[in-house]
Amino acid sequence: TQTIHIVGGGLAGSEAAWQVAEAGHRAVIHEMRPVRGTEAHQTDSLAELVCSNSFRSDDPEGNAVGLLHQEMRSLGSLIMRAADANQVPAGGALAVDREGFAAAVTRALERHPNVTLVRGEVAGLPPEEWGPCIVATGPLTAPTLAEGIRDLTGAESLAFFDAIAPIVHRDSIDMDVAWFQSRYDKPGPGGSGADYLNCPMDRAQYDAFVAALVAGEKIGFKQWEGTPYFDGCLPIEVMAERGPETLRHGPMKPVGLTNPRDPQVKACAIVQLRQDNALGTLYNMVGFQTKLTYAEQVRIFRTIPGLERAEFARLGGLHRNTYLDSPRLLDATLRLKARPALRFAGQITGCEGYVESAAIGLMAGRFAVAEAAGDALEPLPQTTALGALIAHITGGHITSDPSAADGEAKAPRSFQPMNVNFGLFPPLAQAPRNETGRRLRGPEKAALKKRVLTDRARADLAAWMAGAQPADWRPAAAE
Ligand code: FAD
Repeated sequence: TQTIHIVGGGLAGSEAAWQVAEAGHRAVIHEMRPVRGTEAHQTDSLAELVCSNSFRSDDPEGNAVGLLHQEMRSLGSLIMRAADANQVPAGGALAVDREGFAAAVTRALERHPNVTLVRGEVAGLPPEEWGPCIVATGPLTAPTLAEGIRDLTGAESLAFFDAIAPIVHRDSIDMDVAWFQSRYDKPGPGGSGADYLNCPMDRAQYDAFVAALVAGEKIGFKQWEGTPYFDGCLPIEVMAERGPETLRHGPMKPVGLTNPRDPQVKACAIVQLRQDNALGTLYNMVGFQTKLTYAEQVRIFRTIPGLERAEFARLGGLHRNTYLDSPRLLDATLRLKARPALRFAGQITGCEGYVESAAIGLMAGRFAVAEAAGDALEPLPQTTALGALIAHITGGHITSDPSAADGEAKAPRSFQPMNVNFGLFPPLAQAPRNETGRRLRGPEKAALKKRVLTDRARADLAAWMAGAQPADWRPAAAE
């Protein structure tokens, strides 16, 4: 039996502690609330939901987060069990009574014979004499610990803000309108000179777009987020407010680009999208970080030629979020390469959302248990929702979209936190066909593709569990 310390009793830390305790090891949770609070938490409960009470879609066929729910349930997740037991009606979504949910998680951990809960801040890095430790301190990690991590890993390794541009599913971009080209055909590092997708606008389209950005509904910066904008991550609508020509001299400048379908016509402005993941399934809108509301982003960005039917893997935003440059810093089992006794979990690893944070907590707990037993846990297939998320975080995706125009595998250039979505799954080798063998199009094709991806995920998780589940792994203890 080993003792594993867990810093932070949020969504990830609670789940990690449960996995450790259920496997027969001792889990010591260090939670600073109520001794010290955060800007968002209101209570001293473990696994407090700081904002919405929704775990999003519970549909395991058509939605990646629904599939993640299902995978976590099959791995004995405490967070999912408490959520299921505290459901409130929400259509196809899984929403919970937030107090009932947090109380159920707190109770289950407090009553577990293998769990000790210590209330108090871990100021600075956890002491080395603690041995194996899981850091799950979330987006609002206390400053002294954040400083400790930065001192160990370097100033560039920890971000304190998300300045996020929207990310679009590549297969929802209209390739009859957009084209691949880098400005002046310049190849970037590892690039081909055709690394960007370009969406052209004429003068009337550009003027209407700028007007829509200026008029669009925005989210105000919350009090606790009170920080000036950084140069280089100015929200797109703030740039638009500075003058009608600002954007076409900034991120939307049309120079060095020629529309192959209309080489004689000079575009007034061009929106560029850059590959966002190694698979080549996701593209981010360059320079489009924004505080527009989600509904306004969808409405306004779909007026961009080529993006009329864009599906967004994530929308833009700007808020406080402490997260690691995980693909560089963490190994495949979420250990800090600079100090492998420290494993990270939850939103600080660069996933986004309650469910994803808990999912990474679940895997961190299991990795720690396997390590304590001296076993190497068989890597999770990247075709599962859990495996796809881990691969995104640890930079483990190895393949590239074979249908990408330049067909080359390219590493993503920047790491951005993300919800789980089908764009993180290795793409299917062939477009799915229905029973009659007919090639499908549009929504029918998208629905079938999701079904094939979820079937593949389920089969691969079952096979992994058959091989990876230690024989003495007990099912979750009934409360
Ligand atoms: P947390 O749940 O925040 O848990 C971290 C814990 O660590 C906290 O309990 C904290 O008190 C403790 N801690 C921090 N530092 C220390 C320390 N040094 N010593 C001891 N304890 C420490 N996601 C959604 O899915 N839906 C939403 O609506 C949503 N809204 C959000 C709103 C805000 C304002 C924020 C900041 C985030 C939101 N998120 C939302 C994102 C995210 O999913 C949640 O923050 C989620 O709780 C992250 O889980 P976690 O376990 O990583 O961190």
